[in-house]
Amino acid sequence: MAVYLHEEDLPEGILAPGPVAVDTETMGLITPRDRLCLLQISDGQGDEHLVRFAPGSDFAAPNLKAVLADPARLKLYHFARFDLAAVEHYLGVTAAPVFCTKIASKLVRTYTDRHGLKDLVRELLGKEVSKQQQSSDWGAPELSEAQREYAASDVRYLHAMHTILVERLAREGRTALAQACFDFLPARAQLDLAGWPEHDIFSHAAA
Ligand code: MN
Repeated sequence: MAVYLHEEDLPEGILAPGPVAVDTETMGLITPRDRLCLLQISDGQGDEHLVRFAPGSDFAAPNLKAVLADPARLKLYHFARFDLAAVEHYLGVTAAPVFCTKIASKLVRTYTDRHGLKDLVRELLGKEVSKQQQSSDWGAPELSEAQREYAASDVRYLHAMHTILVERLAREGRTALAQACFDFLPARAQLDLAGWPEHDIFSHAAA
């Protein structure tokens, strides 16, 4: 179990087949303004890979893009909407098919409004993740040990939570509804990028 840092792309063939957990760190929350600095990816076997992009990167990353765009590989996210938009905007690929642990949590954990990664990992797995480095400078020339550990921990538990949430969705009869939401997420991210970030186009409201 180790955390690997790579520059500009993933080495070829280092991920086992099957679902991959994906997360991104950026310079902020406005995707076209705030560049993609880091993409974390894990095959769930115990290692996490961090791919760092330098300022002015051309985001070529052919190995990473091949994995992200592979229609046979399920991508696991927590709040996929943000990561899908960042990947779409900077890497130019739609990183689907999608399973979002935050959407799944909202559909089954209706007894709480706490759907953050920290709360979900604590309840489902009894583990603690620190969110201390969340708002740190991901564009710095050197990532600190704390940043690397934080970034890796954001993808470390998604496979285990996916397994539990699939069972919970089935138990509550919401598997098909969840799948419909996941299938829509790439379009939701494209709406964010195209100028409808907070506007709900399904709402009756005019604006
Ligand atoms: Mn993260």
